[in-house]
Amino acid sequence: MKNEVKVVMGKYELGRTLGEGGFSTVKFARHVETGRPFAIKILDRHSVLARKFHDQLKREIGSLKQLKHPNIVRLHEVSASQTKIYIVLEYVSRGELYNVIADKGRLSEQEGRRVFQQIIDAVSYCHDKGVYHRDLKPENVLVDAKGNIKITDFGLSAQPQHLGKDGLLHTTCGSPNYVAPEVFLNRGYDGSLSDIWSCGVILYVILTGDLPFDEKNIALLSQKIVRGDLRIPKWLSPEAQNILKRMLDPRPITRLNMAGIKAHEWFRQDYTPTVSFEDEEECTAIRDTNVSTREQEEEERILPTEINAFQLIGMSSYLDLSGFFEKEDASERKIRFTSTHSPMELFHKVEVIATAMGFQVLQANGKLKVIQRRKTTVSPRRIPSLLVSAEVFKISPSLYVVELEKSCGDSLLYRKLCGKLSEDLGVCKCQLLHKTQSCPLERELPLCAL
Ligand code: ATP
Repeated sequence: MKNEVKVVMGKYELGRTLGEGGFSTVKFARHVETGRPFAIKILDRHSVLARKFHDQLKREIGSLKQLKHPNIVRLHEVSASQTKIYIVLEYVSRGELYNVIADKGRLSEQEGRRVFQQIIDAVSYCHDKGVYHRDLKPENVLVDAKGNIKITDFGLSAQPQHLGKDGLLHTTCGSPNYVAPEVFLNRGYDGSLSDIWSCGVILYVILTGDLPFDEKNIALLSQKIVRGDLRIPKWLSPEAQNILKRMLDPRPITRLNMAGIKAHEWFRQDYTPTVSFEDEEECTAIRDTNVSTREQEEEERILPTEINAFQLIGMSSYLDLSGFFEKEDASERKIRFTSTHSPMELFHKVEVIATAMGFQVLQANGKLKVIQRRKTTVSPRRIPSLLVSAEVFKISPSLYVVELEKSCGDSLLYRKLCGKLSEDLGVCKCQLLHKTQSCPLERELPLCAL
């Protein structure tokens, strides 16, 4: 059997090796209870430290954690043993786009356009979130069973905290054939425009089966790229030639930007933008609330999510893996506190407190959504000034973790809400604890030993 499973790791059965990276082995895995397939990236902890790969791993996890898009590989969990780190990812069955192109020689303009549109949707979503991939190439684009793409390998990605004082990125990185001229020139670059250059190279490879810039050594290659020494085959349609020429413009200032790509006539043909999971989730939450019955609401309220060791490791800022999570996420977006109140009481109290503070509270999928509407006439439903979700996890029959997560909006208002809720309901604010002996989480689950 192709996906035969052998070794058991926690709640996953590990199967064949899907691929080897510079620092990792990626294995097929199946969730024991649900049978759902996953890909688990396994890294050796000592090698990570010895080869100073810590920062890259932190970037990969930090970026993937905030990206929820159908065309980006989804991160499910992060875990660790004494010797290994496990990153549980969505399984993407058909492997790298590189191999799909290599098998066919090249893709037709129609097929290539669909792939390219999905790449642009995903990359543009990353940019909107302040994440720049910086290593876009067909090897980092995976293809699923339906032929849809998933961008992966965010190990070189940059986030707003990596920008220099000039608002630009300064690290020269990426795979030489896909690197933008301004990155080679080492004078600082705009991560959005350099990613667009790499997307232009990918499009060239998709439509022609060749690299636009290729030389025996990196010095010649960089000269060719900086000069913009590009030949576009005349047998491509004029519109395809035009979009390639404008994306592979060596001057970032005149290069086609994201809006320009999306407005380009070649790109626009048969284009249906992908809806990000966040948009879907919010719509579902609002829709579900409108139709749900009282009984459903009661049932959802009293069923907290059971928390497992993997999730707890990822959640707890004072456990070993904390260093792999971005500061902003731990201290700003997600706030957790433990409580001895039952989930039903908790949900009720959150609702009462939040309503008294002037928030609107909706319920869906076992979560509460706390919303403060923007006081403008422009699309009030789509752009709340604060959107927070509250979820309760069961640690033991008498102890729960309340997790508040800000999806968007005013940080001050969010902190005020979190402060009030944890003051009235909590017994221990996890984010404020550092290797404390008195934290009830530690007493109940001795996971710090990991
Ligand atoms: P590199 O050293 O190139 O940065 P890496 O250590 O980051 O590599 P990946 O490139 O993420 O490792 O993964 C190695 C290979 O494993 C991929 O090329 C791909 O074939 C396979 N792979 C990775 N993630 C998945 C996934 N989610 N589903 C299926 N296969 C995957």
